[in-house]
Amino acid sequence: MNISKIEHIGIAVESLESAIPYYETLLGSKCYAIEEVADQKVKTAFFLVGETKIELLESMDPNGPIGKFLEKKGQGVHHIAFAVDQVDEALAEAEASGIQLVDKIGRNGAEGLKIGFLHPKSTFGVLTELCSK
Ligand code: ZN
Repeated sequence: MNISKIEHIGIAVESLESAIPYYETLLGSKCYAIEEVADQKVKTAFFLVGETKIELLESMDPNGPIGKFLEKKGQGVHHIAFAVDQVDEALAEAEASGIQLVDKIGRNGAEGLKIGFLHPKSTFGVLTELCSK
């Protein structure tokens, strides 16, 4: 699968407006991008921590994935994303090794990345994202 690094950690928040100042203070750096991802019904805000990013996720629709997550579990870590060379290949490889997938093929994520999720049932409870450029 050739995972090179943790690309980002996704954190579900009720409000970007209230979460961004906290992370700007904690990390000592400014949020460098805010982007809506229509496909996932979320608004995202990004911070850089070394080579890894923090992705804050605010729901734009209570029936979207983050809306449902917030309702069920409340705010907190939503997923961990690993960088791979090629998402479709990595997903196929994961499936071949018996890991249950959420996405059979990659879809469009924030920052122009191709992303695909592995199912938490197969990953010890951690929603796991694979992403590539
Ligand atoms: Zn993500």
